[in-house]
Amino acid sequence: MRCPNCGMDNDRVVDTRSSEDGFAVRRRRVCQSCHHRYTTYERLEPTVLQVIKKSGAREPFNPDKLRRGLQIACGKRPVSTAEIDQIVSDITDVLYRNFDGEVPSRMIGDLVMERLREVDQVAYVRFASVYREFKDVRDFVSEVEPMLQVDAD
Ligand SMILES: [Zn+2]
Repeated sequence: MRCPNCGMDNDRVVDTRSSEDGFAVRRRRVCQSCHHRYTTYERLEPTVLQVIKKSGAREPFNPDKLRRGLQIACGKRPVSTAEIDQIVSDITDVLYRNFDGEVPSRMIGDLVMERLREVDQVAYVRFASVYREFKDVRDFVSEVEPMLQVDAD
């Protein structure tokens, strides 16, 4: 570990101890060039869930991105920021509890739709129309109809 004082990579660990309730290791180091003492911490790198997109590409799960999607779907709808935050938090929990390492993007979309359907139907339809990429108006109507309780006959 390079010395923050002189920049030389010539240190010796003089003390190692557990820190942050065992979630980190704290090391006291001494630079053998200038005798400066400094501390480093070693922590577990959090495992970020990878989202598998429809194309097969992967990207790290990003709760902020999920929140933005929800905010757009809920624009000018009576859905509070607190409700959106709750949905993001709940879905994040479900994903980390049920998936190990990676999750199909479709699963996230389904969870969001499930929640939006309960919260606000306009927001639900907006989200569904983007997410499900309705091919034509018939798809869209078949999705909306049950909610409007329009008799199909
Ligand atoms: Zn040094």
